[in-house]
Amino acid sequence: MHRGSKSWCGKTSSSSSKNPGETLERVRAQFDTADETRELQARHTDLTKRLAAKQVEKDRYIRLYAQGHISEEELETYLIDLKHQISNLRLLVEAAEADLASIEENALTAKTAETWLMTLRERISEVEADTPEAFHKRQQLVRLLVEGVTLNREGRDTTAVVTYRFGPPDEGAGVEAGVADSVRNSRRPLIDYHLHVVAHGDRPMTVENILTYCEVARERGIRQMGITEHDRYLDDIDLAAFQEAREKFQDVELRLGIEIDFVPGKEEQMDRFATALPYDYIIGSVHRVGDEEVDHPDHKEIYEKWDTYELYEAYYENVRKAALSGRFDVLGHPDLIKIFRHFPDADITPMLEETADAVAESGIVVDVNAAGLRKPIGEIYPSRTFLEMFHRRGVPIILSSDAHAPNEVAAGYDRSLELVRDVGYREVVTFKNRERGTLAL
Ligand SMILES: [Zn+2]
Ligand SMILES: [Zn+2]
Repeated sequence: MHRGSKSWCGKTSSSSSKNPGETLERVRAQFDTADETRELQARHTDLTKRLAAKQVEKDRYIRLYAQGHISEEELETYLIDLKHQISNLRLLVEAAEADLASIEENALTAKTAETWLMTLRERISEVEADTPEAFHKRQQLVRLLVEGVTLNREGRDTTAVVTYRFGPPDEGAGVEAGVADSVRNSRRPLIDYHLHVVAHGDRPMTVENILTYCEVARERGIRQMGITEHDRYLDDIDLAAFQEAREKFQDVELRLGIEIDFVPGKEEQMDRFATALPYDYIIGSVHRVGDEEVDHPDHKEIYEKWDTYELYEAYYENVRKAALSGRFDVLGHPDLIKIFRHFPDADITPMLEETADAVAESGIVVDVNAAGLRKPIGEIYPSRTFLEMFHRRGVPIILSSDAHAPNEVAAGYDRSLELVRDVGYREVVTFKNRERGTLAL
């Protein structure tokens, strides 16, 4: 659970939204879409009429031709024109229908949330007593209600921003289950686009092994999962097994990528890796300065050999080169160098700004990678500061766990989601056959 929620449970509540009634108002406001629905319905009606009119027009031309009023050539020109107009109109009608359906779904969510919150409000007296049981109940309530609490410090003022779950936990599920996996209850289509099945040669890429990853992905609300082995395990990628797993498991869409180790001077080798298989996308990651890895737990000598500031400079220079090389769709874990908590004394902000500029210029997508949470640094790659720089420059993102084992799929996503939403991201990029799409967060 989130650190900030403790103060909310206790007596020192600093939150601006204290009761479920207020949440209820927010739910209502959020889903008050009457105007939008009316507009959409009007648009849908209008489009349907226009579509019908075009059909009539088509019949009219055919009649005119049959009666000898227009030539065959003229008829053909009219029909081709009409065909385009009709197919465009059909697409627009479909889009309007999809929008209407999603509004309806939201309305349903609002209604469920409303009923739930009303019940909660009626029973609030049970939890207001000053007893240990009431305290426990308060804690449970907060867990049910609150998705996350973020503390913002500005000078001496601290404000707490509370984000609520807009929907009750699954019926029958205990409080703990609801809390343990907030991602699972999310209806949002999530992606995990950087992970390893073969990992460091830990297991073969069999259909069974891939499906194990898929199961975990489905459990955790992942709709698209991209397998991106390290380039040096290229030969272990079993394309047939991947394709079979993709066919078999319909609940999670599989994508194939590769994580290429960016090493300046090894362009030929990188290109060979990049063109070996029909990837959906390619991740370029900087793991090295010179020919030494910066993230190897058994080889940290590099941090002793180098002045830390200079090491950071060399690292970020490589990151800029990787982005600007144009070889990759995604820039993997862009501040990996922080992994062991070796920080320079001097301010690295200008270095990060310069790197964010290069990334924005390159058009590459940034990997918001939760693996850092499992490393000594204990935070997501990139840091909040760095991610804010990317966001200000309009740099798009993917989400990933960099899992090297099935139970790591989507690990840390409650934190990643909180971070990216808080920074202002509202969508993630998806890939298929090297083409980009987006999904709303
Ligand atoms: Zn990596
Ligand atoms: Zn990786």
